[in-house]
Amino acid sequence: MYLDSAATALKPQTVIDAEKKYLEQYSSNVGRGLYPLAETATEKFEAVREKIARFIGAADTQEIIFTSGTTASINLAAGLLAESVHPADNIVVTEMEHHSNYLPWKELAKKCGASFHVIPITGEGAIDIATLKNSIDERTKIAAFSAVSNVLGTINPVEKFVAAIKGINPQTLVLVDAAQAAPHMRIDVSLWRADFVAFSGHKMFGPTGVGVLYGKAALLETFPPIVFGGGMVFDACAEDTRYREIPYRFEAGTPNIGGVIALGAALDYIENIGFTNIRAYETALTAYAQKRLQETFDDAIRIIGPKDTKDRGGIIAFSLKNIHPHDIAQLLGEQNICVRAGEHCAAPLHRRFGLSATTRLSLSIYNSEEDIEKLITALKEIQKIFSVA
Ligand code: PLP
Repeated sequence: MYLDSAATALKPQTVIDAEKKYLEQYSSNVGRGLYPLAETATEKFEAVREKIARFIGAADTQEIIFTSGTTASINLAAGLLAESVHPADNIVVTEMEHHSNYLPWKELAKKCGASFHVIPITGEGAIDIATLKNSIDERTKIAAFSAVSNVLGTINPVEKFVAAIKGINPQTLVLVDAAQAAPHMRIDVSLWRADFVAFSGHKMFGPTGVGVLYGKAALLETFPPIVFGGGMVFDACAEDTRYREIPYRFEAGTPNIGGVIALGAALDYIENIGFTNIRAYETALTAYAQKRLQETFDDAIRIIGPKDTKDRGGIIAFSLKNIHPHDIAQLLGEQNICVRAGEHCAAPLHRRFGLSATTRLSLSIYNSEEDIEKLITALKEIQKIFSVA
C-alpha cells in the first residue's frame, strides 16, 4: 500500500509504454540527426515542450527549460542569478522550504556576500502575509517559496504572495517551487506571475530524472549560459562562440529524451482525469484521513500543518506519542505500508516545531479510504507494541 506519493508518484501504464516505445522503436538523439528516426524523436520531444507550456499557461515554449528535476531547476535558476546578486542584497526564503529551495539560495547568498533571510511560519504552518511583506525590502533580490509544503501540506496563495512581493519591490525576482503542487492542482504561470517556477516529472506520474524550469522569456534572454557543451551552441571556435537561443542555450548535452516523452504521457494522464476531479478527490480523502487519525489517536497524535483541509494538499505529517517515527515507518514497512519518516529534507521546518522527525503519509488519486483504515489498524497495533514495551 503506497502512501508516499510526495516522494515520488506511481507510474501509469501509458507513461511506462511511452518511455518503452522511445527506447525500443525510435531511440536516437534529438536536435541533431537528419534521418527520420532522429526527426521523430525530436518532434516528440519538442511536442512535450509545447504540451508543458500549455499545461502551465506559459506564453511560449522558449520559457520551458528541461532539467533533471526540481533540485536541478532551482540550482540552475540560482546559477543564472549568481552575477546579479551583490553584497548589499538579500535573498529571502521561508521556514517551510524543502532543502532544494533553501540550500541553493543560502549558498548563493554566502558566495555573493548577500544576506539570507528566512521568513518564519505560524504555529499552524502557514506564512502570514504581513510577515512576508515585512521580510521584503528594496534590497531583496530574490524571494523563493513553495506552492505546497512537502511536510505540512500547506497550500500557499502563490498569486497573492507574488503580488505582495512585487508590490513592495518590483525588481525582486520570485521563484516558486511547485514540486508538490504540479501533480495536484493547476499551475498557471500567467496568473502566478512568478519569474521562475520549478517542478519534477516523477512526482506527477512521470519518470525520474526529468523536470522543468519555467522562466519568463524576457528574463531568460538576459542570461548567458552557465553549463557548456553540445546542443547549446551555433558556432564555436577559439575567437568567438555563438550560443543558441533560449531555452536551448540552457540545455547543454543530451537530455533525458525518453523521460521527457514519457512526461508528456503523464500530462495526458492528468488532463484526462482533470485537476478539478483530482483536487476534489484528494481533498475529501485528506479530510477523511485527518479526521480518522485524530479521532482514533486523540491526544497521542500530533498532526502538523493547517487544520482546515481546504488549506492543505494530501500530505499529513504527524508524531505519535512515545514512538519514534522511524520505528513507525519500519513496522509499517514490514506490512508493506509505505510511508516516510524523518525530516523529509526540511530540517528548518522540523526545528521550528521542536521535532527531530515526523512520519509522513502522502496521498494521490490511486489511494482510498480503505488504505487509510488499513494504516490506522496497523498504527493501533504499533501503539499496542510500544505501550507494552
Ligand atoms: N521541493 C519540494 C517541495 C519537494 O517536495 C521536493 C522533493 O521531495 C523537491 C523540491 C526536490 O525534488 P527532486 O528531488 O525531484 O529534485
